[in-house]
Amino acid sequence: MPALNDPEGAHVPDGARVIDAHVHLFPDRVATAIWAWFDAHGWPIRYKLSADTIVQFLATRGVSQIVGLVYAHKPGMAESLNAFIAGLADRYPSVIPCGTVLPGEPDTRAIVARAFNRYGLAGIKIHCHVQCVAPDDPRLDPVYEEAAAALRPVVIHAGREPASDAYRCDPHALCSAAAVRRALERHPSLTLVVPHLGADEFDAFDTLLDDFPRLMLDTTMMLANYFPVAPPADLLHRRADRLIYGTDFPNIPYAWDRELRHIVAANLSPDARDAILYKNTLRVFSRSS
Ligand SMILES: [Zn+2]
Repeated sequence: MPALNDPEGAHVPDGARVIDAHVHLFPDRVATAIWAWFDAHGWPIRYKLSADTIVQFLATRGVSQIVGLVYAHKPGMAESLNAFIAGLADRYPSVIPCGTVLPGEPDTRAIVARAFNRYGLAGIKIHCHVQCVAPDDPRLDPVYEEAAAALRPVVIHAGREPASDAYRCDPHALCSAAAVRRALERHPSLTLVVPHLGADEFDAFDTLLDDFPRLMLDTTMMLANYFPVAPPADLLHRRADRLIYGTDFPNIPYAWDRELRHIVAANLSPDARDAILYKNTLRVFSRSS
């Protein structure tokens, strides 16, 4: 996939409150490995910034808060990532921190419980493609149970795209809206956030929203007009109460505000725009609940 040399905005639009609910904050050595992978197998990363610089970059441009995400590739890695993101949130109150676990690793349930109770994290991120776990894999049950009991969301890359042949497993074999349905049928009180609007099964995830009132979709990379697949044109208007603005920053091949400009240009009512840009995020990730 190519880099887009599109111009970037200097600031969020006047008067808009914006939370980016999908920002990757990793220790430098992990980020460097992820960028090397993306450069070889995904797309060129435009913003190779340290975690501290990412927080400052978005704050300077008027993004009022960010949801920081980590994910573990190997057993034994989650605890230190969770401590890392908790430390960032201590230094920067604008960071809403989410932790991770590798489903099935020893002490999966205890790692999630500590993420909430010791580190005060706002949610858990699961990446089905990287972690080679299906959304309805029983190894996720303790993760879902702990999150539901703590009233915390699980952000789970459970859609089939963006996929890559370079993953250790086949995202199209693992992931589907049907698998998410099975997981939510087993865990009806769980709040799930599925990134990328569920790409590329946009219609099937749209239907799931009707059946599972706690399911949310984040917009990450799908409003950038970058991939060959695109969500239905009226989705933002019809589903403003169930969508969350997120970008995948810094791991993107185009301007930081490309999707933000798309949302602002979509002629949404002020209520719908605010819901997508920050209100839904606060509702889902608020740690006071
Ligand atoms: Zn992401």
